[in-house]
Amino acid sequence: MISPVLPTYARAPLSFVEGSGPWLIDESGRRHLDLCAGIAVNALGHAHPRLVAALESQARRLWHTSNLYRIPNQERLARRLTEATFADTVFFANSGTETIELAIKMARRRAHAAGERERTRILTFEGCFHGRSTGAIAASGAPKMVEGFGPLMPGFDHAPWNDLEAARALVGPQTAAILVEPIQGEGGVRVADPAFLQGLRALADESGALLILDEIQTGVGRTGKLFAHEHYGIRPDIMTVAKGIGGGFPLGALLATEEAAAAMTAGSHGSTYGGNPLACAVGCAVMDEVLAEGFLDRVAEAGRRLRAGLEALAARHPAVLGGVRGMGLMLGLECRVPVGRLVAAGYDAGVLVAPAAQDVARVLPPLIIADEEIDEGLARLEAAAAALEAAEAKDQEARA
Ligand SMILES: *Cc1c(COP(=O)(O)O)cnc(C)c1O
Repeated sequence: MISPVLPTYARAPLSFVEGSGPWLIDESGRRHLDLCAGIAVNALGHAHPRLVAALESQARRLWHTSNLYRIPNQERLARRLTEATFADTVFFANSGTETIELAIKMARRRAHAAGERERTRILTFEGCFHGRSTGAIAASGAPKMVEGFGPLMPGFDHAPWNDLEAARALVGPQTAAILVEPIQGEGGVRVADPAFLQGLRALADESGALLILDEIQTGVGRTGKLFAHEHYGIRPDIMTVAKGIGGGFPLGALLATEEAAAAMTAGSHGSTYGGNPLACAVGCAVMDEVLAEGFLDRVAEAGRRLRAGLEALAARHPAVLGGVRGMGLMLGLECRVPVGRLVAAGYDAGVLVAPAAQDVARVLPPLIIADEEIDEGLARLEAAAAALEAAEAKDQEARA
């Protein structure tokens, strides 16, 4: 019999009742160090006092009005985001996928408004993840995401990752946009080579296409800069943001230049909840924290400590762990056993990491993680790796 909750997730037998900073407490009272952070969502950890205060104070006054009216919190958050980035304008949504949908619409509409009716195609990359809507799965094209859901939205081309020449061969006067993650998250923490991302920027400029960066996972301080593209010295025309920006409250934002967004006039797009007073109160509080003096430098420093620790750990357990990839506090630990086994060993050791493709475990702690907590996380991962190694050795003995 089907469960009351649609069984689309392979869930761990764990549930949490309370959290504080990087810690989660499960139903049995056990403490887990959260190096998953709701898949890069809980940027400020759990129950951050500033976010709790922002939410409570807004909740007492006003939750929701409608985009029929002006929303001062939304205007405030849009100003914060445009002042801190390349963007001139922002649209608020409730999730990452919704911002991807708008990015696709915006790129096509811009070409249409310029009289380029054939310029509708979007170039994406093998291993990408942009969400689960019908548009976003078509953007990905991955068999496991699209099977049985056709006919798919047409208009997507797919190039191999980090292969600029292959991308060049697929871009032409029909290309409305190139859509790319600076670091593929679900795809296995695969970092774009500088020459690749910079080359895609140049390719978009030469061909008249827009560059859309999906920073839903990489953004809001995750890599030690406010947005990951700042490491590459390039600017997108459109950027999608979600996850960290709400710190756990559902919030997404599409940021764009005036030129990219000009054709999106009144009535061309909308959302009931998107950017409501409650969501934007929390979003403003997140931005206040992340933009505070020294915050991003601390993320970079924490990232260096965590990375060095993971590299040392991997070197001590070569039977089960490989290399470390990523940037800042978006790190991937290569597994030489199925990643699900490391994640499960982590549950036993009281540390949470998130699986990704290519047998890579994502280590995505809250950005506020302290040095002692990083060290504690590494010790727990060490216990998990040692347990896995012992299990592997036993399996091999049994086979011999
Ligand atoms: C999580 C994610 C999405 C989808 O966001 P949702 O909030 O789940 O809709 C899209 N792109 C990237 C890169 C993501 O990490």
